[in-house]
Amino acid sequence: MEILKTKAAMRAWSAEQNAAIGFVPTMGYLHEGHLSLVERARAENRKTVVSIFVNPAQFNDPKDFEKYPSDLEHDKALLEKSGIDALFLPAREEVYPSGVPKLRLSYDASMARLCGKFRPGHFEGMLLIVHNLLMWVNPTRAYFGLKDYQQFVLVKSMARDLEFPLEVIGCPLLRDADGLAMSSRNVRLSPKGRAEALAISRALKKTQADFPRLKNNLAELKAAFATELKPLSIEYAEICDADDLSEATGRAEPTKQYIAAVAATVDGVRLIDNIFLN
Ligand code: AMP
Repeated sequence: MEILKTKAAMRAWSAEQNAAIGFVPTMGYLHEGHLSLVERARAENRKTVVSIFVNPAQFNDPKDFEKYPSDLEHDKALLEKSGIDALFLPAREEVYPSGVPKLRLSYDASMARLCGKFRPGHFEGMLLIVHNLLMWVNPTRAYFGLKDYQQFVLVKSMARDLEFPLEVIGCPLLRDADGLAMSSRNVRLSPKGRAEALAISRALKKTQADFPRLKNNLAELKAAFATELKPLSIEYAEICDADDLSEATGRAEPTKQYIAAVAATVDGVRLIDNIFLN
């Protein structure tokens, strides 16, 4: 595994490969969810690149940025074992030599909802770094987890609208055996907090099970979803059209896909999760 620390080295490595390149961008503190993306990228491309960069521009809460977990040596060992070809590991000054650019990439409707409503600037910062990483890595395919469903929808739209010559691929959300969605932030949960957080995946699974019965009354489905989550401190709990993330009310249309999505804070840790309802 080659370790590339500069944009120039990354671009040069990419240009040298005469083969399909799969790319998995991450913020490190890797877990099996990340590794499932790596495995898929390896299976579908001749070369695989992973990046680790904790992007300050996408943290609306500076404390969340400071507390973001990190264990680079462990990440490197996991990636070495996974058989990737290159790790792109730029320092902050390499990524933002003149500070965070003022350019804002944004969408109105789909970006303003769900996490976008509660994390001002988060998705603009995320789109900027993903845009730049895609330029430097120039992959054939880029892999994103459906755990961050809104991120996936926005990145896919950006890649299409800016005509990046690549495929954006969404990979299934991985859960721990107890149902909690895997996340680098889970390490910050106390045992009690973790037990409380299980209400999130339970509520999502119940909502998925309720969908066939309540598909003609999505407002009632949403109310039942909120009731299940009541013990938690909820930011949002929504039933959405999976294509454009608009709020789904009334009757479900048979040709459309729907998701239930939630953000909650447990032990001061912000957790997000979602499930496809049909
Ligand atoms: P992060 O390091 O949290 O920015 O995540 C890097 C990539 O891994 C993103 O595309 C995430 O959606 C994906 N990812 C994180 N957690 C999971 C999970 N539990 N299952 C699948 N993909 C995940």
